[in-house]
Order: sequence, then structure tokens, then C-alpha cells
Amino acid sequence: MRSHERVRATNVFRLLLVVASLLSVATATSAITVADDQPAVPPLTATAAPTPDPGTSALVLPPVAAADSVPDNEGCVPGSTGCAPDSLVDAVEEAVTPSGGQSAANPSCRLDTQHRPQGTTGPAITDYLAPDAARVIRVRIEVEDGIAIDTGCFADTVARILNDSRGWGAEGALAFQPVSADDADFRLVLASPDTTDRLCFPLRTGGKYSCRNQRTVVLNVARWESGTEEYSENLEIYRQYLVNHEVGHFLGHEHVRCPGPGEPAPVMMQQTKGLGECLLNGWPTRDER
Ligand SMILES: [Zn+2]
Repeated sequence: MRSHERVRATNVFRLLLVVASLLSVATATSAITVADDQPAVPPLTATAAPTPDPGTSALVLPPVAAADSVPDNEGCVPGSTGCAPDSLVDAVEEAVTPSGGQSAANPSCRLDTQHRPQGTTGPAITDYLAPDAARVIRVRIEVEDGIAIDTGCFADTVARILNDSRGWGAEGALAFQPVSADDADFRLVLASPDTTDRLCFPLRTGGKYSCRNQRTVVLNVARWESGTEEYSENLEIYRQYLVNHEVGHFLGHEHVRCPGPGEPAPVMMQQTKGLGECLLNGWPTRDER
């Protein structure tokens, strides 16, 4: 090999070395980039399948959020599956059978005809403007077909209770908007004892209790008509209590006790169990709001 050919060969060899070196750096850089990107990929999380609600075959609302998944024990029989401890179960003094006639204590929202419950329910009010509030909750107010009540009167009564300045929405924090759509945030149903039992299942209402079952509040028409012994002459207050208590469960409130003699009974107190030393009251107390 001549000298100029050796020089050319040497230069080619050096050039190959430089190219190999650059390739090595590029490969290392690429590896680091991939490694840095990996943590940015979010980990896979399991998504719980919605739990079917056996009691809402007719009108199914969206799956329940975790905060609402604790069953109300308003209608539980002590010791039964899915119920809260016995101390949290509302007692019922006696069974109340719905009658066909008007209630002597309070005839409002009643018709003088016989109940013919059909087991199906329908919206009791068309869309309704809610008061201004920081948070608006949409409620579908329903009445079971065949219940002898002026459905518009019932729905209006419930809407007024929910949006009363003494209620859960006091001071503009919350408002309830009755809607006829079936995608409301929750349903409030006035139902016969048998239908109440079905809608409250697996809670055991025994034809007597009302309940909040996931996204459905069921008011037993027997209670709506006659209240309890202590409330039989004060049905207006009892209805305020019944609506506010069960909707209070939907909002996440739990049972509380009478705070002391002569105090208004908290609305989340189990007033059907008796008022004790507390006074009749159908509105959330300041401590409850
Ligand atoms: Zn309760």
C-alpha cells in the first residue's frame, strides 16, 4: 500500500469511529427518554360495575355514587341483612292502613276516593324553576298510579318543603328543582305500602316504613296520611319531617339524638321512635345544616 493510500484508509477508519460514537450517544439518549416517559402513563384502575337496584325496575336512574351507597336503615328489621345496627332502626308504633276517606287531622292534598294502587309510578309535576342556589339538585317527584291524592298538590307540597328557607337549602346553599325527566339526581315517590316494600328492597319496610334506598326516596302513603301517634294532630309538621328526614339521608346525613330537654327535635332524629324530651320539629336544626 502506498503512503497516500494508507492516509486515506486511516481517515476512513477515524470517520467510522466518529460515526460509531455518535450512534452510541443517540441510543443512550433514546433509552433515557423512554424511561422518563413511563411514569407519566397513569396506572390502570379497576372500575366497579354499577350495582343493579332490584327495587327500581320501572325507572332506573344512574349508578349510585359511593357516598350514597350506604343503605338507609329507616325500614330495616333488626338483624336482617344489609341493615344498620338496631339502635339506628326507626321503630313504628303501629301499622297504619291507608283509608279511602279524608284525614280529619289534615285534609290537604287528599281526595275523597278509594286507593287503587297500581304498582306503577309516574311524575307528579312538570318542570319547575328552582330558586337560585350554589348547588341545584334535580328531583323527580312521583306518585304511584291509583293513589287517591291530588298529585299536583302533593308535588307542590314536597317542592315547597324542599326549597323552604328553613330547609336543607337555607341561605342559598342548595336548591331542589323538580323535573319530569327520568335522569334526575334522585326520585321521591309517594307509594302504597306494598309498592314501598318493593321500592325499598332489600331494606325491609314491612308495609309501614318509609325509606331512602340509594337514589330513591320512598314515602309510605300510610304515614303521609296519618303520621305517627305524636304527630297525628300535626300532620303538616310530620310531613315536613318525613320529607326532610329521608332527603337528608340522600344528602348524606345520619341519625342524631335529642340534644336535650325542650330542644327542637333534630330532623335526622328518629322521630317515629318517639320525641323523648324534644319538641315537634320538621326542619333541620342549625347544627344539622
Ligand atoms: Zn332515618
